[in-house]
Amino acid sequence: MSANDETPAKKSPYPLASRGSKEGRPSEIAVGGFSFGGPRIVVIAGPCAVESPEQIMTIAKIVKGMGATMLRGGAFKPRSSPYSFQGLEGAGLGYLKAAGTENGMPVVSEIMDARHVPIFLEHDVDVLQVGARNMQNFTLLKELGKLKKPILFKRGAGSTVEEWLCAAEYILYGGNPNVILCERGINTFETATRATLDISAVPVLKHATHLPVIVDPSHAAGRPDIIPALAKAAVAVGADGLIMEVHHRPNDAMCDGKQAVLPEDFSILMDALRNVAPAVGRSV
Ligand code: PEP
Ligand code: MN
Repeated sequence: MSANDETPAKKSPYPLASRGSKEGRPSEIAVGGFSFGGPRIVVIAGPCAVESPEQIMTIAKIVKGMGATMLRGGAFKPRSSPYSFQGLEGAGLGYLKAAGTENGMPVVSEIMDARHVPIFLEHDVDVLQVGARNMQNFTLLKELGKLKKPILFKRGAGSTVEEWLCAAEYILYGGNPNVILCERGINTFETATRATLDISAVPVLKHATHLPVIVDPSHAAGRPDIIPALAKAAVAVGADGLIMEVHHRPNDAMCDGKQAVLPEDFSILMDALRNVAPAVGRSV
């Protein structure tokens, strides 16, 4: 693109993501029998990491039975320490897909490296997650722009909404229109939570972009006791979906057990969401 006055970038830094580019109409992104941005709230649940075939199958059955629509599970984990569990990689994607197929749930898993695209395609991962740490990994974003697979695109913990939308623009500009934004908390001075859930980002994005917006209360809170409250707030404020970490044995979890919601609490939350969603014209 040349840098003259007529370039779209001059009008908006994110011309393809901007709300105006679709005449104010919100986008719907279909995955399996479900849709991000439609009347029904998409609830993605599962463990932080796939740990074994039995673990992911057990959790898939539990959350499916409670009304979750999609299954999450990391196989390539972005850990702060190189000594922490890094994920089961390709084998983990296989266990995740098997659990999803068995339970009629599309699967979501994080991709950290452009060189892993073939492994994700081989295992037919339904939604590729870009984590907070890779929001501005432009090499990865350019590769994902060549695909048609939906991209669950998390906000960087230190990024503004504008930086986030500019980064999403890389995927759209590459030719992949299927981007779902995910607010997962930002770094602030507050220490009571792992990050600060920027709840206002949801309505801000609804004005700024046509892309669907979901919320991850798990990584924002970092503690299970307040996750249900944040999840309800997210739906009330207009989020199109939720992604949450649920584990049946959080004390044994190999990653993020501290913030895992127990199945019984997830079930109570799902019941509550069945009341909250209709108040804002949605269903769960
Ligand atoms: C995750 O979803 O497990 C994860 C690492 O999330 P985030 O990129 O938001 O930290
Ligand atoms: Mn996690």
